[in-house]
Amino acid sequence: MPNLTRIKRDMSKLQPAVASRIDFGVDEPAERSNSYAPEQLRKLFAALDRMDETLTKEQRYAIMERQGCGKGGAKKLREAMRAFAEANAGKTLAEKAALLGSAYCRAEMTADGDIKVCWEFRDGDGRLSCGCGCFKDMAKRGLTPPGRVSRAYCGCCGGHIRYHYQTALGVGLRLKDVVSSPLDTDRAEGCGLLFEVLWPTA
Ligand SMILES: [Zn+2]
Ligand SMILES: [Zn+2]
Repeated sequence: MPNLTRIKRDMSKLQPAVASRIDFGVDEPAERSNSYAPEQLRKLFAALDRMDETLTKEQRYAIMERQGCGKGGAKKLREAMRAFAEANAGKTLAEKAALLGSAYCRAEMTADGDIKVCWEFRDGDGRLSCGCGCFKDMAKRGLTPPGRVSRAYCGCCGGHIRYHYQTALGVGLRLKDVVSSPLDTDRAEGCGLLFEVLWPTA
């Protein structure tokens, strides 16, 4: 889940005056924990709204792509991504992207050469929800997220996918945009993530 300390540090570099006026709170759960206290969740969602108002899209996602849960601890997934890379080493990037859905979640190369990933995670009621561990944890604890959360939140999903798909695809990725989100569409859309390919350059 997003880490308020890191978001605050990164935002302070870009917009120190704005960052200093945001209440990011202090008592965070340990790294890799998904359990934020309700008060911290409120601060996190409010901070994302302020980022929407004060930062460019590029700045927001530069900060948020450094978030991302399920990176260090997700050993099985890391191994699956390495195995995918080995098994598909001879294929083009477009071919690899098209095959990724069988290993994890659906991806495709766009006409512009970007990589678009659609992470669709369904709750027990069959509706879409954000794949971030934070929301699964809230559901477990009986906490209801606000009706609308900034889709910048899904930058955390972007950080997760970026980390694993750089390995699977053997390219560098930069989160350009969150093109869809369950968080501001009443759970009608999945977490749609658009990445620019940074390296290797053609
Ligand atoms: Zn997350
Ligand atoms: Zn998401």
